[in-house]
Amino acid sequence: MDEPDDLLSLWANRGGYRLCPECFRAIPAHSQERYCINDGSWLLEACPLCKAPITSPYARFCASCGVGFASLAQASRKKSR
Ligand SMILES: [Zn+2]
Ligand SMILES: [Zn+2]
Repeated sequence: MDEPDDLLSLWANRGGYRLCPECFRAIPAHSQERYCINDGSWLLEACPLCKAPITSPYARFCASCGVGFASLAQASRKKSR
């Protein structure tokens, strides 16, 4: 039996997306990309706050808790400075 036992397969089956918080490129969750090829940002696989999956390639805010993904990216940039 080929049961998907890892998270990646689950995301792919659910049609989720990864999203770049810098330039908002959307990548299908079954892709191998982990970092944005434009700017090297870590791609979000889900909302960092409430863990809701990213179900739309056009999402800029979390559909579940309303947080802006761009503001999260700016916050993490400030921290590393
Ligand atoms: Zn990007
Ligand atoms: Zn959220």
